[in-house]
Amino acid sequence: MSAIDYDAFREEVRAFALRACPADIRETVAANRKIGRAEWSRWQRILYDHGWGAPSWPVEHGGTGWDVRQRFIFDEVTAECECPPQYHHGLRHLGPVLIEYGSQEQKERFLPPILTGGQWWCQGYSEPGAGSDLAALKTRAVLDDGEYVVTGQKLWTSHAHEADMMYTLVRSGDGARKQDGITMLLIPLDSAGVTVREVRTIDGWHHVNEVFLEDVRVPVANRIGQDGQGWEIGKFLLDRERLGSANTAPLTQYLRRTRALVRDALPGRDNEVRRRALEMRLAQCEAELAGQRELGRRAVATVAAGQPLRLQPSVLKAASSRIQQRVSEIALEVQGAVAASRYSTTGNEAVDGVEWVQNYMFHRARTILGGSNEVQKNVIARDLFGS
Ligand SMILES: Cc1cc2nc3c(=O)[nH]c(=O)nc-3n(C[C@H](O)[C@H](O)[C@H](O)COP(=O)(O)OP(=O)(O)OC[C@H]3O[C@@H](n4cnc5c(N)ncnc54)[C@H](O)[C@@H]3O)c2cc1C
Repeated sequence: MSAIDYDAFREEVRAFALRACPADIRETVAANRKIGRAEWSRWQRILYDHGWGAPSWPVEHGGTGWDVRQRFIFDEVTAECECPPQYHHGLRHLGPVLIEYGSQEQKERFLPPILTGGQWWCQGYSEPGAGSDLAALKTRAVLDDGEYVVTGQKLWTSHAHEADMMYTLVRSGDGARKQDGITMLLIPLDSAGVTVREVRTIDGWHHVNEVFLEDVRVPVANRIGQDGQGWEIGKFLLDRERLGSANTAPLTQYLRRTRALVRDALPGRDNEVRRRALEMRLAQCEAELAGQRELGRRAVATVAAGQPLRLQPSVLKAASSRIQQRVSEIALEVQGAVAASRYSTTGNEAVDGVEWVQNYMFHRARTILGGSNEVQKNVIARDLFGS
């Protein structure tokens, strides 16, 4: 087998990213503005057409066959070129679950549209009263004539308003432990009985939703694995979700932009003391980020080797989310007073500097979403010291 020329690969990715990623999408990303399905799916389609739709999937399912280092180079270089990260719910969360637990029919039905960007997924795990304590979920699924009839409510469902499908944990039975009797279903969001309602958050962006399910009929063919196997499958997926924090490339790029903001907004000798103090804090974040990058590399190598991930996703998730918050705090300190005075909660503003405030607000949620950092610390402690 011939050795891989990583420098040549890096240049190949850079040339492709600069040529193929549409300028309007790269401008939106560079300005720290929010992107949605339209931008994400255009970019995914371009990657797919080039054969790069799924860097981390096995080749037989349409993956690239890249090794861990190539995957990291791809993430780093595309972020440097201001391309969006690939949309996570299908590619990084559900895709690996389908590959591991899905039937042949499910793989053939659901993997191709994830690859092309044609079908959009969201995650229906959390409910009122079942966030950190996810196993307390109450959404009911009752078998009736080859279909599950699902009734309940999901909360904080990111991108549900843009999605076609929701992978969902439901309660289809009862057992000795509350983790028993949970099942994973794939629910089309245009089914009768589904209502999606917007939750407007403090950043002003429409990101999360409530999803109400009232007697929604879901074919048994849309169940992943066995009835009652949902807790095991749901946790497998959550590990991949938290591992998403291993993608430190977008955060590295955000840090670079913040460094440029500090330099440009605080020029000359008059600002030197303040500028240097902020640069020192950014340097600390950068050093920690370098550690996260290495940890991420190891975690991805662990998955590639088929080894258990243990506490790695929780360490990555807890640490990266705090670094992200600290960087956006620095940006807010520089830009805050001016931009905050222009801040409104009406959406994707085109006013200079407002994006720094919106991102600061959005990143407050990073230590909560995907499982709060307190819960990650519990997972880490259990792994190290036993329960
Ligand atoms: C922006 C955003 C996007 C999200 N997207 C999705 C999504 O797409 N799909 C989805 O299913 N969910 C999503 N979530 C939900 C997210 O997973 C939950 O908010 C999270 O798991 C916390 O649950 P909770 O909000 O019910 O808070 P609670 O569980 O009520 O926690 C409240 C507080 O108590 C602390 N706490 C709770 N239990 C413990 C414990 N045992 N030990 C120590 N401290 C504890 C928590 O850390 C937190 O500070 C999203 C959330 C946000 C904010």
